[in-house]
Amino acid sequence: MNKKLKKILIPLLCIVLVVVIISIAGPYLVLSGARQPEIEDGYAYSEYFYNSYDEIRAHLKQRVEKLKNDGITVNVSEYAVDKNDSLYIDNIYLPSAKEKENLIVLTTGVHGMEGYIGSVMLDVFFEEIYPDIDTEKTGILVVANVNPYGMKYMRRYNENNVDLNRNFILDWSSFDLTSNKDYPEVKEFLQPEGKIGNALWHEAGFYLNLAKEAITKGADKVSDALLTGRAYSTTVLTVNTKTLCI
Ligand SMILES: [Zn+2]
Repeated sequence: MNKKLKKILIPLLCIVLVVVIISIAGPYLVLSGARQPEIEDGYAYSEYFYNSYDEIRAHLKQRVEKLKNDGITVNVSEYAVDKNDSLYIDNIYLPSAKEKENLIVLTTGVHGMEGYIGSVMLDVFFEEIYPDIDTEKTGILVVANVNPYGMKYMRRYNENNVDLNRNFILDWSSFDLTSNKDYPEVKEFLQPEGKIGNALWHEAGFYLNLAKEAITKGADKVSDALLTGRAYSTTVLTVNTKTLCI
């Protein structure tokens, strides 16, 4: 290597090395130096946050027992989504003591993985808010773990690949069902038939197909189809009103 080239290459390599080190170490140093926020009133995450659907369900049963021990009337029922996989939606109803004037309805886990924080919120509700509610006139209905499959397997969607939080349309005739012009072209990708099967393989397949669709049909077409709206048909994308009206 001639001297001139060396003179240019060595400083250049040094600069590249410094940039690489800063880009890797910089964020780490900034984050490790950042102060963790104080958690008030002893709300330790470990005490309230559970890491599995089964733990959350067991904790919910403890909550029911605690309420009963406090002399509160609690009616419990469960809806089996999949008995073989022990997937249940839990209904907990605390009727008002005298007049049925108000009913507070709480749901958790409509988007499966959000049920983990939903469980924490239920604890906060029963410990912080419930004691101040006029239970003579106000009933409480908790529909917990609405999407137990999504909770167990850390997914937003349920076992039929339905996004339950996109299922609140009661009158489809009020929508222009053909407004999403790009949807038919990517329908097979966005609206696969059948059950999910193995969640991990399903996710991997989704990203592979997404790349394929973006390359063959164009990223714009895919994003337009996704974002223009989802009222192409009653079973479009993650929506299925028939599933809603159980
Ligand atoms: Zn959500």
